[in-house]
Amino acid sequence: MSKARELDRLQNAASPEDIVEASITTGSRSIAYTYNDPVIFLEYAVDVARVARRRGIKNVAVTAGYIDAAAREELYTFMDAANVDLKAFTEAFYKRLCTGHLGAVLETLEYLKYRTKVWLEITTLLIPGHNDSPEEVKKLSEWVMTRLGPDVPLHFTAFHPDYKMLDLPRTPAFTLTRARDIAREVGLHFVYTGNVHDETGQSTYCPGCGKRIIGRDWYDITTWRLSGDGRCGICSTAIPGLFEARPGSWGRRRAPILPNFRS
Ligand SMILES: [Zn+2]
Repeated sequence: MSKARELDRLQNAASPEDIVEASITTGSRSIAYTYNDPVIFLEYAVDVARVARRRGIKNVAVTAGYIDAAAREELYTFMDAANVDLKAFTEAFYKRLCTGHLGAVLETLEYLKYRTKVWLEITTLLIPGHNDSPEEVKKLSEWVMTRLGPDVPLHFTAFHPDYKMLDLPRTPAFTLTRARDIAREVGLHFVYTGNVHDETGQSTYCPGCGKRIIGRDWYDITTWRLSGDGRCGICSTAIPGLFEARPGSWGRRRAPILPNFRS
């Protein structure tokens, strides 16, 4: 998506105030900084986030987590949540395919968990033959479990061929389900599958009683058994996360927000 030409045509000039105004007008509760990584437009993201925070809108960074310490502190001072791509669990993958370093990303994950109040989730895109072996998935899950604890949500998402990786197949649903099973066996409480239709793998289960407490079918909420204060409605176990008192009803729709923007 970061390479999509179509996005060029969707870009309009927008001041931080314009963006925050659009969020308020559409009833949005948060702004996500993504496509591309906000690390590459950090100054703008921070300018927008500063205004958003003043107006009671939450800020979410969707990022690869590869960022220098000083810039990291500046960005996350204004973020309420982050979804960090953990692209694989080998230095070889990071070096060969990302020209980055696994260690630096792991450091960001620990920084977010222990040095900030940012709500943290992790996403790993499983690419057939590159990072999807049960051994690697287990090592990654064990690192999350021992270094970050059982309550950090972990999403395994499906790859589809694009850009410079057209020679590989889509990730089979089985690979995602297997990864989710491995991570749950390791002890993680909130493990999800993504980019596939899998209501079981996209729903949230209470770590106390095991019951499904938030059911999801793509972007539709199909079950909601949370009390107003973020506890399981069946056994009252506190569920970690930032929850609204009631579920929203956005579903899959996309709403145009352009009228005030200059193209
Ligand atoms: Zn429960």
